[in-house]
Amino acid sequence: MTFLSTPLRQTITELTKQEHTPFFVYDLDGLLSHLKPLTEQSVVKLWYAVKANPLSNVIQTLDKAGFDFDVASNGELDQVLRQGIDASRVLNTGPAKSKRQIQHFLSQGVRTFVAESHNQVKWLNDAAEDLNIQLRILLRVQLRWPEGEKNPLGGDSLTPFGLGVEQWHSLQISKYQALNFVGLHIFQWGNMLSTEKLAQLWTQMVPPLKALADNLGFKLDILDLGGGLGIPYSENDAQLTWPTLIDALAQIKASAGATELWMELGRYAVGEFGHYANPVVEQKQNYDEHQLIMSGGINHLLRPAVTNQAFPCELLRNSSAASRSYVLHGPLCTALDNLGYHTLPKDIHEQDWLVFSQCGAYGFTESMPYFLCHELPAEYVIEHGKICHVRAMQHASDYLR
Ligand SMILES: *Cc1c(COP(=O)(O)O)cnc(C)c1O
Repeated sequence: MTFLSTPLRQTITELTKQEHTPFFVYDLDGLLSHLKPLTEQSVVKLWYAVKANPLSNVIQTLDKAGFDFDVASNGELDQVLRQGIDASRVLNTGPAKSKRQIQHFLSQGVRTFVAESHNQVKWLNDAAEDLNIQLRILLRVQLRWPEGEKNPLGGDSLTPFGLGVEQWHSLQISKYQALNFVGLHIFQWGNMLSTEKLAQLWTQMVPPLKALADNLGFKLDILDLGGGLGIPYSENDAQLTWPTLIDALAQIKASAGATELWMELGRYAVGEFGHYANPVVEQKQNYDEHQLIMSGGINHLLRPAVTNQAFPCELLRNSSAASRSYVLHGPLCTALDNLGYHTLPKDIHEQDWLVFSQCGAYGFTESMPYFLCHELPAEYVIEHGKICHVRAMQHASDYLR
């Protein structure tokens, strides 16, 4: 099994003739054909969670496919607006909405917000009253289950995302005249690969959410289920199928009695369309371990260190040598810089490149690029069959002051 198509392998091989340091390649043609069918249904309205990959060309591709945009900072908002996207197509979620940030969002024309605390509700209302405008508000809810799934977003552990049902109970919505409370938002899991498991989680949420909306005195017009749809990171992982998910979502929508169902997709939207090409520095044997020291590591791809899950990786050139198990290390002087265990040909040497796949989401902008002053990676996109150099590699002297 390979995560790298033959044309992509050829393209990356060509690029390695001019690049000497690690770089990313995003396949926008593949991305667009993946995204188009996602929006061709009337069950769920799709937003793109910009944090997954905020590159301009990626945002433009999501725009072409009919997605709207979920942003969580001034920087993400400005990046989306710079792509010519209207502020009416922006949703703001996130636990840290300062008064200043709220003012910036309102001044840019954003009118739809997921409120995650009582302060956020009050500050949104105050700022909207000052401008004499009305906002659409969804309240973010955090539920607790005894048998919830553990995951990076929290699962059954307590997180700063939203508030519990008990904490929302004291909200008096009539006090907030500038806010239209239109729905609830819930999102507490990540990288789920089973439709059944997802359907089960969503089903359990509907009764407490309906009860909360009733109790607060508004109609649950919009139910936002967040993200959490997974992609395979190894060949043994399962894969979600979109039509099956849509069937499950249609049932949830009906049982919630909601007019609209929303999701903000990050990983499932873009994850499979990014690749990271990384030069081998050397191979060495250390006690009983074969180690590959790589030019790039968690300075460009932090996720393996945070989740303990490697990105799949292949040798760029064809090799008929037998395989062995290697541990891959990046260039940082910390044992945290580990890109996982991989089975690769025995004859790997210092002229070789490895390509990591499934890096389209939670790749470069999630990483720690400045530590040890290595180069920042270049970024390329493939669009209409053509390669475009979007961002050049940067030396430390370009960013250190
Ligand atoms: C990150 C995020 C998402 C996207 O999550 P994925 O699992 O990558 O789809 C959706 N909604 C919110 C509020 C998020 O913070």
